Amino acid sequence: MPFKKNDEIELVIDDLGVSGEGIGHVDGYAVFVKCAIPGERIRARIMKVKKSYAYAKLISIIQASPDRVDAKCKNAGRCGGCTLMHISYERQLLYKEEKVKNCLVRIGGFDRDHIDAVTEPIIGMDNPFHYRNKAQFPVSYDRNGDVKIGFYAEHSHNVIDTDNCIIQSDISNGIAQTVRFWINQCNIEPYNESEHRGDIRHIITRIGYHTGQIMVCLVVTRKNIPNLNRLVDSLKKIPDMTSICLNINDKKTNRIMGDKVITLFGPGYIEDTIGSIRFRISPLSFYQVNPIQTEKLYATASRYAELTGDETVWDMYCGIGTISLFVAKKAGRVLGVEIVPDAIKDAKINAEINGVNNATFLCGMAEEIADEVIHNAELSEFAHPSVVIVDPPRKGCDKALIDTIIRVSPQKIVYISCDPATLARDLMLLSEGGYELRKVRACDMFGMTGHVETVVLLSQ
Ligand code: SAH
Repeated sequence: MPFKKNDEIELVIDDLGVSGEGIGHVDGYAVFVKCAIPGERIRARIMKVKKSYAYAKLISIIQASPDRVDAKCKNAGRCGGCTLMHISYERQLLYKEEKVKNCLVRIGGFDRDHIDAVTEPIIGMDNPFHYRNKAQFPVSYDRNGDVKIGFYAEHSHNVIDTDNCIIQSDISNGIAQTVRFWINQCNIEPYNESEHRGDIRHIITRIGYHTGQIMVCLVVTRKNIPNLNRLVDSLKKIPDMTSICLNINDKKTNRIMGDKVITLFGPGYIEDTIGSIRFRISPLSFYQVNPIQTEKLYATASRYAELTGDETVWDMYCGIGTISLFVAKKAGRVLGVEIVPDAIKDAKINAEINGVNNATFLCGMAEEIADEVIHNAELSEFAHPSVVIVDPPRKGCDKALIDTIIRVSPQKIVYISCDPATLARDLMLLSEGGYELRKVRACDMFGMTGHVETVVLLSQ
């Protein structure tokens, strides 16, 4: 190792890491420096030395990259959310496209030329700020006892206080301030994670992009929070406030929400539309967070599926049935599978309100239900799908599901992924099972952050 802790070094950055951190090289050792950009010459202090790499802290920029921009948020560099905010949006998009390609080559074992040939240009956002329809603010307090509401710092649960998160809507930011005022006025105790005490853990907001309907869900440790009615009264005054709920999470856990929801005001859900379809969204159900990009994402998935009107389609990890209902008109029949019971309830109602009668929704683990479908005579109409769509959480598909998909051998598989590393792992399995990678397209659902969504088409 050419250096030790606290050494000050000069470094040229030549790459970006998986979380958007700059990487420079000294005598073959990689040095990771947060907030540094490829092409930059910087000074940095070595903070931690490992066998083949080191972490360093940016001290000064000797020569800045033309891709560097002034971060628009005062918490940039501290908040773990927007780790790319110092990089121009055009360069962020390039980075994400490259990240996907690199995963497919390094983890998936695909040939670089093939990946270049099948990759379509990333779908960027017109405005990469204030785009989220959902906020999930953790609530905590500092040493002086002052309330902190915001976002976790990188690799920690230290809450960075903010009154104006610039990827959130003004409405969500305003709701957080209403809750902050109530906490202060009524002496409500924010949650203390290390001591597992206190009342309020998270503030979750959701806003229907097209309907304007607003839902607030307060994640608390117990039902009887003092002076809750005062908060509900203030929230109710916000125009378009549609539902206010409590979610009870009394466990020592990293999971944000518990299983129990109590509706305090309104019907307990909101509605939104995607294209011509109307969706009901309950607090525990997943719903894509970037409504403008979601339409483009689904349109790409639908184009890849190339449905003609009589296909049997599986929509695995279907949430509230968004993709199922989006493609149902162009298919013979659709089977949606999802693990969260409330989401499946929503999906069934969503099929009904949209007059879709060729979509069936089953609740359970995709890997188990898929296997059941091919063995259970009652589900035999779904036993031979010609198109399988999967949209799993970050950990990717269960190996058993991949095996079943290969077994039922659909002509096409459309894979929507929010983690290119697990996507690459799963695509390797599918290609070993006889599938060819035909198209890859990244879609930026999460501007300013290091996350990227990808749609992939495979066929036999
Ligand atoms: N396709 C939907 C949801 C995608 S998010 C949409 O675009 O809105 C992934 C979904 O997978 C979540 O709703 C999550 O609850 C669900 N899920 C997670 N693990 C699962 C499993 N093993 N089987 C089925 N669904 C699962």
